[in-house]
Amino acid sequence: MKAVIAGLLAVTLSACANMETPVAKPEWTLLIHGGAGVMRRAEMTPEIDAAYRAGLNDALEAGTKVLASGGEALDAVEAAVRVLEDNPNFNAGRGAVLTREGVAELDASIMDGRDRSAGAVAQVRTVKNPIRAARHVMETTGRVMFAGPDVDEMAKAAGVEIVPPEYFITPRRQEALQRAMAGSFVPMDRYGTVGAVAMDAKGNLAAATSTGGLNAKPPGRVGDSPIIGAGTYADNDSCAVSATGDGEYFIRASVARMICARVAMQDMTAEQAAGATLAEVKALGGTGGVIVLSHDGSTALSMNTEGMFRGRADSTGKREVGIYVDE
Ligand code: ASP
Repeated sequence: MKAVIAGLLAVTLSACANMETPVAKPEWTLLIHGGAGVMRRAEMTPEIDAAYRAGLNDALEAGTKVLASGGEALDAVEAAVRVLEDNPNFNAGRGAVLTREGVAELDASIMDGRDRSAGAVAQVRTVKNPIRAARHVMETTGRVMFAGPDVDEMAKAAGVEIVPPEYFITPRRQEALQRAMAGSFVPMDRYGTVGAVAMDAKGNLAAATSTGGLNAKPPGRVGDSPIIGAGTYADNDSCAVSATGDGEYFIRASVARMICARVAMQDMTAEQAAGATLAEVKALGGTGGVIVLSHDGSTALSMNTEGMFRGRADSTGKREVGIYVDE
């Protein structure tokens, strides 16, 4: 009898101990996205589905390599975004959507949560990895944002890899442009903006976003992706955000900064802040999604759409990718 009571006590005590053990915050965390929008399983072939998941995994791998070896969040977000820029399936770098005139005009931004330094570029036409140009702006110019042909010149002078404008153009995006010019709208024609947010082992946050913008956009149009506070934001005291969606609405709702303000001032979790801010975007008439990593370790991969290409990796060994809202 004594043994039974002792056994029960031990089980109860260990259950209590388990309940009281706080869920450990991972040492490092990486979230990525590859665009949000109308994504239906019926419209996606198994091959396309697999190609997107493989691309997301490649980006997680690149960022994980940096973070798992004790590297910085800033290097991790740049590494993950570069992989997605090089993948022609995503709307950034090679494979970006085209302007009405058939050229790729690329936008990107990056932010360091340690001191809120930031760099952004818009309307880039020849820099192979626009996120590299954004980081160059952040680290060497004392400015935050450059736009137009001067960015290409500056990047070239700094030794950043330059490619001919045709490098970015793929048959898929040319067909998408033709469809748009003929007045037909196919949701998958425009998705694929990419982004990453990370927290490294020192607790530092960083965010990065890169895009070709909107299919068949008028030349010169710039969306939220290179706007610090709209498409990208990082501050160690609040959170790191990268957004994707109807850029005009994301600018008007100051999405990335608003999410971090809600985290810092209203003590919201990443998920609560993302939900409240995406509701504002929806009320204005906009759709899209965000990835959010809060200073307290809470995370969100949220959307007000049917899907968002997305992924997560952390130091506990977690590695997952998703496409549809219900997975
Ligand atoms: N936000 C991007 C833009 O408006 C597009 C997207 O994320 O799909 O340029």
